[in-house]
Formats: sequence, C-alpha cells, structure tokens
Amino acid sequence: KTRVFSGIQPSGGLTLGNYLGALKRFSEAQDQGIETVYCIVDLHAITVWQDPATLRHATRELAAGFIAAGVDPARSILFNQSQVSAHAELAWIFNCVARMGWLNRMTQFKDKAGKNRENASVGLFAYPNLMAADIMAYHATHVPVGEDQKQHLELARDIAIKFNNDFGVNFFPVVEPMIEGPATRVMSLRDGTKKMSKSDPSDQSRINLTDDADAIAQKIRKAKTDAEPLPTTLEGLEGRPEARNLVNIFAALSDSTPAGVLEEFAGQGFGTFKPVLADLAVARLGPINAEMTRLLQDPAEIDRILGQGAERADAIARPIIEQAYDIVGLIRSR
Ligand code: ATP
Ligand code: MG
Repeated sequence: KTRVFSGIQPSGGLTLGNYLGALKRFSEAQDQGIETVYCIVDLHAITVWQDPATLRHATRELAAGFIAAGVDPARSILFNQSQVSAHAELAWIFNCVARMGWLNRMTQFKDKAGKNRENASVGLFAYPNLMAADIMAYHATHVPVGEDQKQHLELARDIAIKFNNDFGVNFFPVVEPMIEGPATRVMSLRDGTKKMSKSDPSDQSRINLTDDADAIAQKIRKAKTDAEPLPTTLEGLEGRPEARNLVNIFAALSDSTPAGVLEEFAGQGFGTFKPVLADLAVARLGPINAEMTRLLQDPAEIDRILGQGAERADAIARPIIEQAYDIVGLIRSR
C-alpha cells in the first residue's frame, strides 16, 4: 500500500524552493488519491536554536502555507511533529541503530555546522536519524523531497535495512525517494551553486512565499546572471548555473520543461526573460500569499487543524512504535 510521508521545518518563512521542491508536489500526490501524511517538523527545527515565539509563529505560518498550496487537511494528514511522540521515541531507537560513520558522511551537517563543528548541537548531528524515524513511524513507502534530501533518504534506507537485519525481521519498508521534475533543486538567486534556503542570511537569495509582487519582481530583476542570451539547447546551459536556475524555475512555475522554455526564449537576453519570469512568479505565488494571510488571521483554527491531524497521525504511528519496542525487547506492561 502506498503511503507518502514528507516534512518541512518551521525554521523560517517558506521559499520558492520549498514550494516547487515540496509543497507543490505534496498537493499533487494528494490529488492522485494516495494516502498522504505531511508533517511540520518542529523537532528538527530546534536542532539549531529557535526563539520560542518565532517558532510558534513559523509553525502556524507553515501550516497556512501547506493549506494555501493545496494540501487539504481533510484529505491529507497535516500536523506538527512534536504532538506525536512516536517520532522522538523511534528516533532514539534509530540513534542506536545508525553508525557514527554513516552520520559523519552527511554533507548537510557539514554545511550547517560550518567550521565550528565542536559547537554544533548533538541534535543537528543526529538529525537524519529523526528524519528516518519520521518516515518509518508511518511505514511510509514514498517520500517526495527536493534533491537536497537525497543523502538523508539513503541513510533512512540503510537504517531500515540494518534494523531489519539486526533483529531478523522484515518490519521497516525500504523507502523510495520521489525526486523528479525540473525544480527539484532551486538555487539561490545570488549564487547558482548554492541551494535556495529559508535559513540563508541573505533575503535577496530567495523568493519568500510572503513576498509581495514588488519584492518578487525586484529580486528576479536583481538575480545574478551572465551576459549571454539564452541558448537553444540544454547543453548551452552547462557552466551557467544562474541561467539554468532561472530556466528551471520558469519551467516548474509554468508546468513546462527546461527544453520547452528554451524553445520559447532561445536567443533572448535576460532583459526580456526576467520580466516575463517575474510576472509568472507573481501570478503563481500571489494567490498563495493571499490565502496564507487570510488563514493566519485565525491562529486558533490552525492549531485546531494541527491537533486533529496529530490525532490521526498518532493512530497510525502508535501501533508501529509499540511493535518496534517489542521487536527490540523492551517490555511494555502498562
Ligand atoms: P533550512 O535552510 O532551514 O534547512 P530549507 O529551505 O532547506 O530550510 P527544509 O525544511 O529543510 O527547508 O526542507 C523542506 C522541503 O523543501 C524538503 O522537501 C526539501 O527537499 C525542500 N527544499 C528545500 N530547499 C529546496 C530547494 N532549494 N529546492 C527544492 N526543494 C527544496
Ligand atoms: Mg533544509
């Protein structure tokens, strides 16, 4: 049985990268009638310090973003991670399954910890184990994520395989990543070799779902590019990461392909391409922005939706974590 699971951290406002790499796909999976479980991973967010009031706001804003992007809390399960204790419980078991060497190879930890690794939280290091627990607590079979999460998903598969081997069971499924489409990795508007990220210190590097039309247009106008016109073929984008990024974004926003975009704009300079892209982005993101603003006027209603989602999530995850305890040999007698 197909069950999709994915999560987003409430670690700042949502970006165009989150929308194209995650939210848009999430609502498409839901619309295919597949069982979909979507989680606001607040426990992941606190692997780096979060101001408590800001975290609460970011959690509600993210919930509003999910709903505005088309995730329907009646058809999908939408909740915040910390309300379902199975995530943290299974993560502990996985802390004892995963090997230090595996985690040492994770490039996201190296990126996020920076030079000062000794000072990074233990949680940031163990983050992929919690992510594996998120997925396995639902026996999820498919995980739609952006390209940046590929390595973590491979680790989740390794953890599932090792758990099954260590205990001689066939309990945790080996998950399939769903990484496809033209914008699985949206890059920074300032540096085409860095991914667009909500935690990037430069606001000019990203388009936020809360940016108004002027801000979107201004950021696209100022986006780093080269002086060459757009090429006729995809090969012509090689060595031009910024140009490639804008073409990918255009393709994803217009439900086209990068080749299709080049067919339309080959030979044109960014002076003509950027304004068309800006209009497209505003047309696509404007309604989402407006719906988020509307939903955020009633935070209590958002909390209610998250609570209901958490109850439905718990009903799936509780029996799975109880079985995991039993497999490991932990007595449950109350
Ligand atoms: P942070 O900088 O705090 O890690 P983030 O923007 O990377 O924030 P996450 O919460 O880590 O966001 O990821 C949420 C989802 O968005 C994941 O599925 C991830 O693959 C996807 N995603 C994040 N950034 C991008 C991007 N630039 N392009 C495509 N998908 C992305
Ligand atoms: Mg991230």
